[in-house]
Amino acid sequence: VCTDLKAFHDILQKSTNIVVLTGAGVSAESGIPTFRGSGGFWRTYQATDMATPGAFKRDPSLVWEFYHYRREVVMAASPNMAHNALAEAERKLTSEGRKFNIITQNVDGLHVRAGSHNVLEIHGSLMKTRCVKCRDVRDNHDSPICPALKDRGSPKVEAPLPRIPVEELPRCKVNACNGLLRPHVVWFGEGLDGAVLKKAASLLEACDLCLVVGTSSVVYPAAAFAPSVAERGVPVAEFNVDDTPTIHDLLSFYFQGPCGTTLPQALAAIG
Ligand code: NAD
Repeated sequence: VCTDLKAFHDILQKSTNIVVLTGAGVSAESGIPTFRGSGGFWRTYQATDMATPGAFKRDPSLVWEFYHYRREVVMAASPNMAHNALAEAERKLTSEGRKFNIITQNVDGLHVRAGSHNVLEIHGSLMKTRCVKCRDVRDNHDSPICPALKDRGSPKVEAPLPRIPVEELPRCKVNACNGLLRPHVVWFGEGLDGAVLKKAASLLEACDLCLVVGTSSVVYPAAAFAPSVAERGVPVAEFNVDDTPTIHDLLSFYFQGPCGTTLPQALAAIG
């Protein structure tokens, strides 16, 4: 696998259709915890255990406290150099008639806040809710999302708080529905929206260069995206602080380090 920046720049200059796959690592330098590695805990819980339909069914109040905490962290955060470099690359390349799309597993909205327009959020958004009863999806930027959640998002290990009664959790305001709202994010064990998957597939099929940034490439179906591109003989370049064994063998390029540093360097050749 090549680690030479100059060789990457040569490929980048010839590419006309670039797809960037991003995961939690692209937002790590904005202070948003990842689910794996050192950021993987909230209170005493493993973060991945909170992001499941089973956890919400068992204890919706605890899961909402976790999501309230995640929303507060995201609202207080700003896009970092990696988000900004991608937004800048989109501006330059699209002005030259080249294509540039981001497919993100992140639910934090930071690519859009950085100014990227071509962003497919395949796992939904922390700023959206869905009614479990009528399935209505809404943007919801209110903080706290309901009065009962005020001050309930602390990440600290502490004595268990009394649970918020389910009736006081966020409720659907459409007509007289009053159904329980849930975060409009895809949880572990749930499938992705069919239309979103179709759109991702068509972007991946058309690209002639693929960047993989800050993802452990273990969560499916996103973990299959880079392999599907490499199978066509299209170069794949990874940007990660760690080696990711699941995709290492198919990479053309690997740039190790925090993507807030490596990505701006790699994309600087544009224009
Ligand atoms: P992950 O937590 O499994 O993996 C994060 C990856 O980023 C790791 O490979 C790690 O080595 C790398 N990384 C950490 N810091 C980095 C940095 N500064 N520069 C480059 N790489 C860095 O994340 P995932 O693969 O996205 O999968 C987790 C799932 O959890 C996703 O489905 C996602 O929806 C969700 N999630 C989202 C957010 C978010 O929206 N910011 C945060 C946590 C989890």
